[in-house]
Amino acid sequence: MNTKEKDLKYIMHTYGRYDAALKSGKGATAYDEDGKKYIDVSSGIGVNSLGYCDEGWVKAVAEQAGTIQHMSNYFYCSQASDLAEKLCTLTGMAKVCFGNSGAEANECAIKIARKYSFDKYGEGRNEIITLKNSFHGRTVTTLSATGQDVFHNYFFPFTEGFEYAEANNLEALKNTVSDKTCAVMFEVIQGEGGVNILDREYVTALAGFCAEHDILVIVDEVQTGVGRTGKLFAYENYGISPDLVTVAKGLGGGLPIGVCMCADKLKDVMSPSTHGTTFGANPVVCAGANYVIDKVANAEFLNGVNSKGEYIENKVLQLPRVKKVRRMGLMIGIEIEGDAHKIAAKCVENGLLIITAKDLLRMLPPLTITTQEIDEAVSILKSTLEECK
Ligand SMILES: *Cc1c(COP(=O)(O)O)cnc(C)c1O
Repeated sequence: MNTKEKDLKYIMHTYGRYDAALKSGKGATAYDEDGKKYIDVSSGIGVNSLGYCDEGWVKAVAEQAGTIQHMSNYFYCSQASDLAEKLCTLTGMAKVCFGNSGAEANECAIKIARKYSFDKYGEGRNEIITLKNSFHGRTVTTLSATGQDVFHNYFFPFTEGFEYAEANNLEALKNTVSDKTCAVMFEVIQGEGGVNILDREYVTALAGFCAEHDILVIVDEVQTGVGRTGKLFAYENYGISPDLVTVAKGLGGGLPIGVCMCADKLKDVMSPSTHGTTFGANPVVCAGANYVIDKVANAEFLNGVNSKGEYIENKVLQLPRVKKVRRMGLMIGIEIEGDAHKIAAKCVENGLLIITAKDLLRMLPPLTITTQEIDEAVSILKSTLEECK
């Protein structure tokens, strides 16, 4: 059996995969098992932030794997405390809690928000408002948090205590708030929901309203964080100071990590045995993440993200059947005439790894993508759009 046949026989069919078995990569270029070359503008859904097999990242990870690969959370770990210090110093947040994925980081934020409210106000003030069209993960609680009906099927009963408000509508939010509300949770750019960029006025007004009512602001930066939007975190584009920020995808540079960061007033909410995970704060993963943060948290690097994004946008806008580009930094949604899913599948056949979000084409290229790789990517997209009507 080849890889595809074995996969179909032995792996549960929870994904509709593209027809390619990737084997190796360098930068934004990947190769499949037959040696066919692809330009990758998806970075494994924003995970390979420094591209495939960045030399410094590989060295950091490999050296750490050969020094100490894991210790339980009963011991102090310098890679984890270094990473925590960097994240706090760079953002002004007070403390972090480590996990292994975006959904787990969100679960942690939800637990902190509920415990903060329980400690201060007693039982019953535990509802969290999320936005329609949001995406917050696949655990039973984060599915509940996700503001899309299609995710609220089969797995009943879902976790209670979530309400949904229309995005970019402050009145709708205020009408959903009650004396049970403890937090509002949102992505400043809804990634899976179709690269919907929230309005600046809405986000600042929402943050102001929440602060007045001691309702916590949780920003899900799982997709938008770590340089993706041209700032270290996307909320910086909005001038707000969230109470909780969750980070995952791009932080590890390709290894699984989730982090929940909290502001000063929440730093002592969690106490021993209120939260934990076996693999969280793994030294190999943290060594990779430290390398990523050192590279990305740099004005010149972040300016590069913005200029690469502009360069791609200008090129893509000249392509046939492109209606509009929704973009911040290198988080790019392309409104297109035609079936985005069919076009994406055809792009893969033609050597371009691109993904979709709702009915848009979506690019989340490695932040290190080169001009030459961008030009190749756009040229494959162009010929695919011309070919596939
Ligand atoms: C991907 C994603 C998640 C879920 O992250 P996992 O690592 O898959 O659990 C949560 N929120 C947002 C905004 C995401 O894009």
